[in-house]
Amino acid sequence: MRDLIIVGAGPAGLTAGIYAARARLDVVLLEKMAPGGQVLLTDIVENYPGFPDGISGFELMDRMKKQAENLGLPIESREALSFRFDPDSKTATTDKGHEQARSIILACGANPRKLGIPGEELLIGKGVSYCATCDGPFYRDLEVAVIGGGDTAVEEALFLTKFATRVYLVHRRDQLRATKILQERVMANEKVQIIWDTIPLKILGDQAVEAIELKNVKSSEVLSLKVQGVFIFVGFEPNTQLLKGLVDLDELGFVRTNDTMETSVPGVFAAGDIRSKNLRQISTAVGEGAVAAFSAERYLDTLRG
Ligand code: NAP
Repeated sequence: MRDLIIVGAGPAGLTAGIYAARARLDVVLLEKMAPGGQVLLTDIVENYPGFPDGISGFELMDRMKKQAENLGLPIESREALSFRFDPDSKTATTDKGHEQARSIILACGANPRKLGIPGEELLIGKGVSYCATCDGPFYRDLEVAVIGGGDTAVEEALFLTKFATRVYLVHRRDQLRATKILQERVMANEKVQIIWDTIPLKILGDQAVEAIELKNVKSSEVLSLKVQGVFIFVGFEPNTQLLKGLVDLDELGFVRTNDTMETSVPGVFAAGDIRSKNLRQISTAVGEGAVAAFSAERYLDTLRG
């Protein structure tokens, strides 16, 4: 049986892997997609220390992955399908067999939240997108709407101004949630028009997005905005479907841990966006990954007496 399984190769999982590999634990990291996590969807990261001119999300994650591999961390392309947490063993059943270890770090991250409005599901990939970095270049000289008022929505709205002639930023309140520096930039950008106090009702179009129907929550006025793209950034949902009933989750479904990153089950740790917390950043994920690996090592020492 291995010492440790890490699930998820975003910043938290890769950092946990770096620490575990340097501690010479018998560890494996399982990742269902390409290593990198949500950061891969980010054009430029400018608040991760050490890169004074910023760094592309792809390059940052590629560097973390190479660093982990250089230190001997095996990264396997496998999807966890279910978990079982017994006192003396933790099992991940994957699409390529079982993996068993004495401890496990859950760093499976989160996925973009959907709005759940008519037209959204139907038009995914036909104008509805959750990733400006991936799809932005398709909207050169077109008009798009961005939904949301947090860091992601504002950053992505700014990114989209490289391509689109006009970016409508549709926010349900009269104040943005995003960090002040991003607010200043978006307010100063002439290509962005912020539509305050407004929620999306439905996305219109058959084969492609043609317009979005919006409602002003203060005046109840409904208007239809002609756009060719709708980019939705209204937060994230944790990837904890497989963990329900196994570890304590908060009311939003994020994993509760103590400050050693241990969940309600001894030997099961969590780090990164999957955790219940109030700041989701690459820097916090990295710190939590380090703490989780250190705590797993301590836990294994205790088991060995
Ligand atoms: P977020 O901070 O949760 O913001 C979600 C936004 O969507 C909020 O403005 C919210 O409105 C709005 N919203 C939520 N549900 C909605 C609905 N049903 N209809 C319309 N609007 C809705 O999510 P995020 O921006 O994706 O950020 C997630 C985390 O990652 C945050 O901790 C953020 O700081 C971090 N992040 C950091 C960076 C960076 O540091 N550069 C970049 C990206 C993300 P309300 O404001 O009214 O709640």
